[in-house]
Amino acid sequence: MGTQTLVIASGNQGKVREFQGLLRGLPLKVKAQPEGLDVEETGSTFTANARIKAVAVASKTGEWALADDSGLSVDALDGAPGVHSARYAPSDPERIARLLQALKCEDNRNASFCAALCVAAPDGTVLLEVEGQCKGSITRSPRGDQGFGYDPIFEVEGTQKTFAEMSLQEKKSHGHRGRAFALLEPRLRQLLSQQ
Ligand code: IMP
Repeated sequence: MGTQTLVIASGNQGKVREFQGLLRGLPLKVKAQPEGLDVEETGSTFTANARIKAVAVASKTGEWALADDSGLSVDALDGAPGVHSARYAPSDPERIARLLQALKCEDNRNASFCAALCVAAPDGTVLLEVEGQCKGSITRSPRGDQGFGYDPIFEVEGTQKTFAEMSLQEKKSHGHRGRAFALLEPRLRQLLSQQ
């Protein structure tokens, strides 16, 4: 039996790198998804969107695919940007600026990141599904230069650090994707042992 291939169903290089690091210990051949493969996220929840992407990429590539759907939900904005986090504005700096502007006169800065993960097989079977969360607050201005997306304005509860001020290792232990992955890993390992 050859090594199982797992395609990371994302066009975001920051995310692909993070997953390659997280999956390093597993008996898997990890690949980025082929260029130009764009799947529309039509779901209204993170879990629904992860499932749509994993199933589409698995069926198009003929390999197992791992998809995540993630985003930032801000309490004072009724959960926005939520599943629209990636489309909240055209670029990371503009998304950050829009969010800071929306919260300009707001004292309630509570927010949470959520990551739903789904592993699907080429025939459309959902093999695994999990969800991880990270609670925190939106800072008044950006801090740090690591990571991507909203990292510089999300301070992780109990750490006084934004994601952008954390090493990959720290983000792995506190972060929503790291937490979702901690739930996924033993189940993925078990699945692989049954192949
Ligand atoms: P999607 O999961 O590819 O739909 O994108 C979710 C969007 O949420 C990303 O484009 C980022 O803007 C944001 N996001 C998700 N995870 C993170 C993170 O770990 N740090 C910062 N921003 C994130």
